[in-house]
Amino acid sequence: MLKGNLKMKTKLFFAALLALMLGAGQADAAKIRVVATLTDLADLTRNVGGDLVEVRSLATGIEDTHGVPMRPSFVPLLNRADLVVLVGFDCEHAFLPALLEASKNPRIQLGRPNYVDCSKGVTPRDVPKSTDHSEGDVHPYGNPHYMLDPVLAKIAVQNICDALVAVAPEHAADFTKNRDAYLAQLDAKIAGWQADLAPYKGAKFVSYHEHWPYFAARFGLVYYGTIELKPGIDPTPHHIENLINSMKADHVPIVVREPQFPEKVPALIAEKAGAKLLKLPIMPGGVPDTDTYIAEMDYIVHTIADALKQ
Ligand SMILES: [Zn+2]
Repeated sequence: MLKGNLKMKTKLFFAALLALMLGAGQADAAKIRVVATLTDLADLTRNVGGDLVEVRSLATGIEDTHGVPMRPSFVPLLNRADLVVLVGFDCEHAFLPALLEASKNPRIQLGRPNYVDCSKGVTPRDVPKSTDHSEGDVHPYGNPHYMLDPVLAKIAVQNICDALVAVAPEHAADFTKNRDAYLAQLDAKIAGWQADLAPYKGAKFVSYHEHWPYFAARFGLVYYGTIELKPGIDPTPHHIENLINSMKADHVPIVVREPQFPEKVPALIAEKAGAKLLKLPIMPGGVPDTDTYIAEMDYIVHTIADALKQ
């Protein structure tokens, strides 16, 4: 593990050197260069920024939001970035701080205006009472998966818009116009999603990782529990057995498996508990035909509604 880390640090160091030698300005210099950690934030930024931005996402959509594998190619991208857009609540703790350090880009470091923490204005759920994270809990500041609530995603849209206006005030009118158009589109979708899930109020589901409390609260579903013991901690056989027994007793009809986790354990739990197993994306690109945030949410809502309908 340590050896692997050292190797990655060396790789990142040389990538940083290369970035410095190449210098800025290789991409389209007229555009605002944005690096988003995850695909949902990249999509929102494209919608607000339109033709004025060039957006890259570190994740492709299938990764663990807490552990996007670091690639040396990320360093020159970040070195040239005007903005870095992130989830916050320490969601990206395992990869972003090291990449930002290697980027040698003072504009996008923590605390700078071009470090765009989209959680600003979001009230986190499930903030731990204890500050002892020795057991490896990956949600130290509360649950960071607010993007699965499309109403809270509107806060991220606003944070992105504010940052773009700050970096290019001459384009403020364009950004606010794009923001308003996207929010109107999203509002119409939210009304549709509410209607799609309205017949299933109170329906229970479990998932591998604690991605879904915000989603469940928004749409009147009951988030029953996780296959993981705690966020980032694998289940024990005892926990799995207890979960199956209580799911059976409470008639929990759905097990959600996020794309980054293997199917074996969720499939076993679904089978033993008599539930359906659904593979659902946690960001655009997690499953085919979910390339935008709206397409991703469409897929999630319709897959759950279809499973509960039968
Ligand atoms: Zn998490």
